[in-house]
Amino acid sequence: MSTTVQPVPRQRAEGLPETMRAAVFRGHESIRLEEVPVPAIGPTDAIVKVTLTTICGTDVHIWREEYPVAPGRIIGHEPVGVIAALGDAVTGYAVGDRVLVGAITPCGSCFYCQNHVEAQCSGHDDEWEMIGGWRLGNSIDGVQAEYFRVPYAQANLAKIPDDLTDEQCLLLADIASTGISAAETANVQIGQTVAVFAQGPIGLCATAGAHLKGAALVIGVDAIENRLTLARRMGANELVDFTQEDPVAAIKRLTGGRGVDVAIEALGKQETFQWCLEATRPGGTVSSLGVYGGKLEIPVEPYIYGIGDKKIVTTLCPGGKERMRKLMELVRHGRIDLGELVTHSYGLDQIEEAYELFGNQRDGVVKVAIRP
Ligand SMILES: [Zn+2]
Ligand SMILES: [Zn+2]
Repeated sequence: MSTTVQPVPRQRAEGLPETMRAAVFRGHESIRLEEVPVPAIGPTDAIVKVTLTTICGTDVHIWREEYPVAPGRIIGHEPVGVIAALGDAVTGYAVGDRVLVGAITPCGSCFYCQNHVEAQCSGHDDEWEMIGGWRLGNSIDGVQAEYFRVPYAQANLAKIPDDLTDEQCLLLADIASTGISAAETANVQIGQTVAVFAQGPIGLCATAGAHLKGAALVIGVDAIENRLTLARRMGANELVDFTQEDPVAAIKRLTGGRGVDVAIEALGKQETFQWCLEATRPGGTVSSLGVYGGKLEIPVEPYIYGIGDKKIVTTLCPGGKERMRKLMELVRHGRIDLGELVTHSYGLDQIEEAYELFGNQRDGVVKVAIRP
């Protein structure tokens, strides 16, 4: 079946400069700072001037060419900024409003959005062919730049309350939304047990999510000391270093031999996925967030009777302004504090250096702040 998609007319926004600096993907381990045109605006768009952004593990997959993105694409999908221009059809906002935009920018009106799987949005303009609703820095230009275009701006501009700083909101666009969603999708119940495999930025937020949902026991699994320390601050009450002991045996020991109610996979490796299956009690849930490279196999041998009645659920980062508003409320009321996860800070002109450090996980980096 083919769909005819009409291109949306866009023009240069008045009062904005003609060019800007942006991080452009140019091939294997090459993301370069270049002078490029400021994005044009259409009736349902906004142009946001970026004040703060960051680099995601997914951007590193792009940098390494493990995830395909067209050369020439501006990368990045975690923006905080100020509205610089508004399309004619966008109402209730003003130039100068501080906004947070989610990594996923749903249209709000397609089949998937109307069925409440906004992350899988198929859109209804010229960017419909993509993986879910992830557009920024993927199917359209991203946010590691001085300006970016917000598609479906009415559904995606989340105003930042005056009492929150840019820094407090930065990690909500993707990693907090994604991480916390693992506990939501698994429907963690009060008093349950949850293990979170890998305490990278997303895993740390999944740990926070399990804690927020009322788990009695949250077990953080990793091998890097500062990540395990952060895991405890984010809500883990037991830590397992998988280089020191078999993580499945450790989880069984901590749960009276039964296994956890929910195991969260936040790394994207066959081994951690398998550990999750093995560490989950019969009838429990494996909640998968990881971006798996290549094939993922589900071994049935240990769970031959109906695979132990276990459920496997998956989530892609929930986006949209209402999701962002709720996450900002969690920060405002002191339920989550992600400040400690930002370990390094760079100017946009140092972004190539930032990719080197973050991509190679040097110097105990968790997340980097990038300031255009
Ligand atoms: Zn991301
Ligand atoms: Zn949609």
